Amino acid sequence: MSKTDSSPGFSPATPDFLSRLEQIVGGDGILTDDVALDGYGRDETEDLCFLPEAVVLPRDRRQVSQVLAWANESRVPVTPRGAGTGLSGGALPVHRGLVLSLERLDRIRSIDSDNLTAEAEAGVVTAELQRRVDEHGLLYPPDPASRETCQLGGNIAEDSAGPRCCLYGSTRRWVMGLEAVKPDGTILKTGSRNRKDVAGYNLTQLLIGSEGTLAVVTAATLRLTPRPAATLTLALPFDHLEPAAEAVCEIFRRGHSPAACELLERGAIQAVAASHPVPAQLSESEALILIELHGDDPEGLLERAAALAATAELVGGYEVLLAQEITEQRRLWEIREKVGEAVKERSLYKEADAVVPRSALADLVRQARRTAADHGLEAICYGHAGDGNLHVNLLQGDLDAEAWQTARDAAEEELFRAVVALGGTVTGEHGIGWTQRRYLPLAVGDTALETMVSIKRLFDPRGILNPGKIFVE
Ligand SMILES: Cc1cc2nc3c(=O)[nH]c(=O)nc-3n(C[C@H](O)[C@H](O)[C@H](O)COP(=O)(O)OP(=O)(O)OC[C@H]3O[C@@H](n4cnc5c(N)ncnc54)[C@H](O)[C@@H]3O)c2cc1C
Repeated sequence: MSKTDSSPGFSPATPDFLSRLEQIVGGDGILTDDVALDGYGRDETEDLCFLPEAVVLPRDRRQVSQVLAWANESRVPVTPRGAGTGLSGGALPVHRGLVLSLERLDRIRSIDSDNLTAEAEAGVVTAELQRRVDEHGLLYPPDPASRETCQLGGNIAEDSAGPRCCLYGSTRRWVMGLEAVKPDGTILKTGSRNRKDVAGYNLTQLLIGSEGTLAVVTAATLRLTPRPAATLTLALPFDHLEPAAEAVCEIFRRGHSPAACELLERGAIQAVAASHPVPAQLSESEALILIELHGDDPEGLLERAAALAATAELVGGYEVLLAQEITEQRRLWEIREKVGEAVKERSLYKEADAVVPRSALADLVRQARRTAADHGLEAICYGHAGDGNLHVNLLQGDLDAEAWQTARDAAEEELFRAVVALGGTVTGEHGIGWTQRRYLPLAVGDTALETMVSIKRLFDPRGILNPGKIFVE
């Protein structure tokens, strides 16, 4: 679906505007051909496309600053972009103007093994940073499933997480300081490399998760940790979904402290099994919990695994599968990593990134099934159960486009209202972006919403940076 919304109040990117831009970034730093505009007009959110007027590819902070200053002066909207793997339409240029891609800011500036920090530019691919710090025996834990393509700037803008964030926390816990450019082109440095720093307001944490609406991140100082000496993976199949959800809660209540704790329901397992080998004892289960344990010695981990398996069995788990070899562990985690792609192959879907307190996971799953059925849809739930965060995929199935849109909008709203009533919230890691804006007021009160809008105005009085995101205009 291609759209070309234009907004009153913004100016078009005229030839004069583009020619000044070209002076800033050079001829190869600006793209206006149809293929580029189409490619940069999409991210991984559904089949949405909003064509920008131009794509600009600065090489450094100075160019980012000059591009923003010029766009701000000219009132041309700017949408920052990392790798375009976002799932809430945050990188879509919904008011046209410029897409500002950070892909060329891809240097890892330093890795400091003494202080366990790294400094990297926004366009560094997450997995590339992880491989580089691994060479030093270190770990940068945030592990979104998209880590082979997504970029640190995008992770910071979304406060992205992944399975291991269950133990280590999401991106925000690993960012100590930022280098960013405000919409008027001024450069802002926040935080520091110090492990303790309470000098003034915490602007670093304010920018993390702000979805590219307050400033463009050009580089970050990141916290690292020594890589764990031993890891182990457990697959816990269940005959029913509810006891699996209850087992997740019990695992934490008994202090097993997994590094990752993911839940897949039958639909997710079957979707993967259609095109990928899944051990029979897992593919036939109604629900599957995947656990990763981190520790200092393999023997200690085996003891922890046995205790954890006993807890799962108490709640209805059976035939626990244990993987010690790294390749076996990878094979199990591939099942989880392939779910998104596998569901997409089955049907067009809308993903609700629902979060509830862990004790309400079973209620969330029941509610998702009930809501989907009431609207003639299928729901497939999977995700970061250890964080109470399940991706509820609502599938189009056989519905025609119109019926699908009506059903999914109604089902999603009903689901989010129920999620909030369970004490949860409307996004755990994918952000509000463009597609979830109408649900933000369900999750935050009027005063919080007004405060957020005031902060946006303070950073971006002309409203040129990523307009149309987070708030309903
Ligand atoms: C297969 C798949 C698996 C995924 N798995 C996970 C997962 O496990 N966990 C998870 O949290 N997410 C996941 N995601 C979602 C997505 O990968 C993350 O949100 C990711 O952080 C986006 O990074 P990106 O570089 O692609 O950013 P983009 O999609 O390009 O942009 C995302 C947002 O960040 C803003 N932005 C990008 N760069 C900057 C910058 N330098 N400064 C300011 N703003 C910026 C954009 O304007 C936009 O609002 C997944 C997506 C896919 C397709």
